[in-house]
Amino acid sequence: MNGHDLENFIAGFERFQQQYYGDDPTLINELRQGQHPRTLLIGCCDSRVDPGYLIGAEPGDIFVSRNVGNLVPPCEPDDGGFHGVSAAIQFALQNLKVERIIVLGHAQCGGIRALMYPTSTASPNEPNFIERWMKIAEPAKRSTLAKFAQSSPEVQCRVCEQSSILNSLNNLMTFPWVRRAVDEGRLTVHGWYFDLAAGELLAYSNRAGGFLPMVCALEQTGPDKRLARATTA
Ligand SMILES: [Zn+2]
Repeated sequence: MNGHDLENFIAGFERFQQQYYGDDPTLINELRQGQHPRTLLIGCCDSRVDPGYLIGAEPGDIFVSRNVGNLVPPCEPDDGGFHGVSAAIQFALQNLKVERIIVLGHAQCGGIRALMYPTSTASPNEPNFIERWMKIAEPAKRSTLAKFAQSSPEVQCRVCEQSSILNSLNNLMTFPWVRRAVDEGRLTVHGWYFDLAAGELLAYSNRAGGFLPMVCALEQTGPDKRLARATTA
């Protein structure tokens, strides 16, 4: 794995350039006129969960806001602070008029682990932005510890990762543009969870009250594929 080398990044851009500006410039010519993504995706900074790469999005497909822990803060009055995620939500709704919002959480999230099991590595004289930021997911931590007090750290983190997605979906509803668009049927919100160890993509189901696989792990789909081939042969 040497994808961190600058030479590889430059070579990567050259391949992108050749594909979109050389081989077939149709898409870039459209995008030169402006962007019209229909989806706002809120994901984590984690290097293993690049949303565009994961779902095979093309340039212009998704408007993305990434932050530590893929959190959505509640809508708060302007207190003089800097509200990056809230600005992305406002722009996506007011200017781009997106039709759906996906909060994409994932397994082995370092932000959630830091929330569940804080370590005291930060110097008391220096700001701890991670700890402060992750407080947004405090309700998810509380509900996890209430229901899974005896479980292993791995289970607790997974439960909290998924519960935090629901917490973020709730917080989304506190933004007036989101609330209005959902009420008027112009917007849907989705909670997705990428299990990077298993290679599965799950989605929250209101009806099931939990996360269900949208795309199962290969080990599980394998036999079905063989069955399908056997029955169509
Ligand atoms: Zn993460």
